[in-house]
Order: sequence, then structure tokens, then C-alpha cells
Amino acid sequence: PSCVIVVGMFPELVSGSDREALRFGEQALTYGELAEVAGGLAGHLRGRGRVAVWATPTIETCAAVVGALVAGVPVVPLNPKVGERELAHIIDDSTPEMLLAAPHAALPPGLAKIPTLHVLLERGDPTPPPVEPAPETPAFVVYTSGTTGPPKGVVLPRRAVTSNLDALAEVWEWTERDVLVHGLPLFHVHGLIVGVLGPLRRGGSVRHLGRFSSRAVGQALTTGATMMFGVPTMYHRLAMDCADDPGLAKAVGGARLLVSGSAALPATDHQRLAETTGQRVVERYGMTETLMNCSVRASGDRRPGAVGLPLPGVSLRLVGDAGELLDAHDGETVGEIEVTGDNLFLGYLNRQDATDAVMNDGWFRTGDMAVRDPDGYVRIVGRRATDLIKSGGYKIGAGEIENALLEHPAVAEVAVTGEPDEDLGERIVAWVVPSGAEPAPEELADHVARLLAPHKRPRVVRYLESLPRNDMGKVMKRSLAPRRTQP
Ligand code: ATP
Ligand code: MG
Repeated sequence: PSCVIVVGMFPELVSGSDREALRFGEQALTYGELAEVAGGLAGHLRGRGRVAVWATPTIETCAAVVGALVAGVPVVPLNPKVGERELAHIIDDSTPEMLLAAPHAALPPGLAKIPTLHVLLERGDPTPPPVEPAPETPAFVVYTSGTTGPPKGVVLPRRAVTSNLDALAEVWEWTERDVLVHGLPLFHVHGLIVGVLGPLRRGGSVRHLGRFSSRAVGQALTTGATMMFGVPTMYHRLAMDCADDPGLAKAVGGARLLVSGSAALPATDHQRLAETTGQRVVERYGMTETLMNCSVRASGDRRPGAVGLPLPGVSLRLVGDAGELLDAHDGETVGEIEVTGDNLFLGYLNRQDATDAVMNDGWFRTGDMAVRDPDGYVRIVGRRATDLIKSGGYKIGAGEIENALLEHPAVAEVAVTGEPDEDLGERIVAWVVPSGAEPAPEELADHVARLLAPHKRPRVVRYLESLPRNDMGKVMKRSLAPRRTQP
């Protein structure tokens, strides 16, 4: 055909409607305005190599990312709280040609060498490019959380972003009428791709809180927001606060959809929130390299501790230690999750070795261990590297023990790890943040033995004031147990 209409990644941008796309406090952009701002930025960026975005939680960060995507230029989101050494590693590794930052961003000296464009919300030409970049063009280089080692640059093609967002829209029944309340950082796939580009692809809108608080979530949900994305630590706070505040509980109960991801949502928080608000959180499972893999459907059974079914277009299998496929749907047989589909990354930047190590004949080895229930629901047991404890001939998942310990009233927070043990191979260690006075270790061990099984009881209990967590609230187990025998 002689006339090709390019709708691109964000169809609503092309329509230029006056529906609100983004709101950060007093600052907001309609789709029409965003199209002009992004169009203006794209004019500066077209034809360049990678650009870094200093990803403060601001409307300028979102505009910068959309501008780069319109221009077809890969974006490297930078964590503004990252330490000097990690930032230097990311810059050396990704060699951005340009840095985009909000006007008042305080940039560290390590970035001084990179030509910087301060993003102003100025109008430019909103006409989309005549040719949409090819689906395999890199859209992002996103660095992993560094939970298990130094962060790696994950190269994500446009195809992964669009196909994954469309799959999520289908299972979450996500439409242009949805308004998302968002309090996550914008330098990981959760906050940026799912949380900002997701609503923009649907033609819905985002209200970013700048910083998460239960009060701000409650306010957004009583003034038009329909859904929320968060990490488990946010739902923990929300569950505690809803128990004390009936007004907040009512607001949360009225939401269409609350989604949790990035780490396991403790069953106790899921239950507590359900009891106080009537709202059952939908859990999903994903990672930088594959975007989202599984989710509970909006209309599905929202049971605690399960991440639901693979998304449309995502194939998932469980693989045993000897590489054998595990077909069991018995809720017990543990295997490593491997996935394949349009959601997969192109590889780690400058790390062919690391890419080869995680690919298995077109399937991505996630490093996460799981079981499948009879109805196909996937339940994550934990990470192979830190959460699978081989003790006394058993393979034991840390998550199950953590959930059991959280049911004990004296336990506020907990992380379970394995440590070398002469008799057992590994022994189970519980790192406990007590809710008040320290409970006796034997009491906690008996509690686990009674709820689960005697061989799952912690042999050692260590008390801490808080758990080491990263910016997504993930427990950094490698700083709890630095001397693991089996990586
Ligand atoms: P690194 O790869 O650098 O060690 P990371 O794996 O934490 O860091 P991300 O890609 O941000 O970096 O996180 C993906 C991981 O988060 C998954 O592999 C999984 O272990 C965990 N995760 C995500 N969602 C869930 C969930 N719903 N339940 C349990 N774990 C989850
Ligand atoms: Mg990882």
C-alpha cells in the first residue's frame, strides 16, 4: 500500500487527545502535550547511539524516555541513588552518547564528561517518524538489580516491550479508562516499562506519587485512580496502615486492581490486606531479561503465594538438576523456571559469556525455582543461588520457611538462608527482625517444625534490627550469607 499509517509504540500519542497521560503532583501532560514534548526531544536525539536518562521520579524522566523511543534511540535508565563505583561501571559499559536529565537534577561529577540535555517541557513537532523502528531495534539497556552479583546491562528490543505490555493488558483487563497510582522508581522495568509505558501504550494515565506513602495511595484511589503497582514492602506497609485506618481500607478496597511484583509477596501480607480491605492483591513474576512471565488473571483465583499462569505468548517449563523436563503439576516437584517468547531480551551488553550461560537452546534460564499446582499456577520457591537450601538430603525453599515464620507474632521480618554444615550439607539459618522482645530460637524452630516439617526448622536464629534491602525492597541475601558453599 502507498499509505502506511505509523501508530508506533503509543497509538494514543498519534491521536493527540487531551486526555491526561502523566501526572506528577502539580505537573501533568495530556497525550497531545506529551506528543509535542516527546517530538521536540526526538528531534534532538534521532540518529544517535544510546542515551542515558537520569531517572529521577519526575515527569521529565518519562518525557525523555518517550522522546528517545519516538526517535528510535536506546535508553539507559540510571538510578540516581546509585553509588559512584556502580555508576562508573554502568557508564563505561553502556557508553551513552548523551545524558538526559530534569532541569534541577543534581548530577554527580562522574557524569560531567557526557554531553547533557536538560529536559524542558517544551513543545516540538508531534509528527511521528515516517518509519517505525524495526521490532528488533534495542529500546532499552536496563541494568539488573544486582541482587546476586554486579548489575548486567540487559538489552531489550522494542518487540519485547510492546508484546509484553499487550499481554499484560489482556490478563489485567487494562484499558484507557484505567488510572494507575505509582510510587516506584523509574530505573527498573517494573516502574518504568510496566508502570509508565504500560499505561501510555493503553492510552490510560499514570499518577506518580514521587514517593510512596499509604496516605497518598489512599488519596489517589479516592480521586479516580483505579489500579496500583507496587513491591511487597509497599503492600506490607499498606496492610499495616489499613488495619489502623478504616478510611484507607475502604479506599484500597475500592480499587479495580492491585498488582505486586519484583519479589515474593509474603502470604501474611496478602491475607492481612484481604481481611482489612476485601482486596486480594494480584501477583505477577518477571525480571529485567524477560519482562513479565506470569501473572494471576484479573478474573482468576487470587490465592496467596502464587504468581498465576504464564502470560499469553510466553512459554514456561520447569527443568530438573540433570536438565530433564519436569511435567509434574503436583505442587511439590521443584525445578528451575525456563521461559521463551517474544518477551526475551537480546542479550547482556558486552557480556556474550553471561548471555551464553543463561540461554538454553532458545530458552532463558531464570535462576528461579518453582513448583506448579494442578491447575498450572506457578509458585516461586526462590532463587537457585540463595533460596534453595540443600539440607539433610532435602531441597528446601527459603520462602516457605519465611512465610511460616512470619505467622509467628514475635516475627516482624525474616530472611532464611543456608550455611555450610558438616552433618547436614547446609543448615537453615533464620535472620529475624523481632516485632518486640526477641523470641527464643527454640520457640521459632518448634513453630516451623509444627507448621511445616521437622527438617525445615531453622537450626540457627540470628536477630537483626532490619534486613538489608535494595531500592526495590528486595532482601540482599548475599550480604547476609557471604560464605555460601554452593553458588
Ligand atoms: P540480579 O540479576 O542482578 O541478581 P535481580 O535478579 O534481583 O538482580 P531483577 O531483574 O530486577 O534483578 O529481578 C528479577 C528477580 O526478582 C526474579 O528473577 C525473581 O527472583 C524476583 N521476582 C520478581 N517477581 C517475583 C515474584 N512475584 N515472586 C518471587 N520473586 C520474584
Ligand atoms: Mg536476576
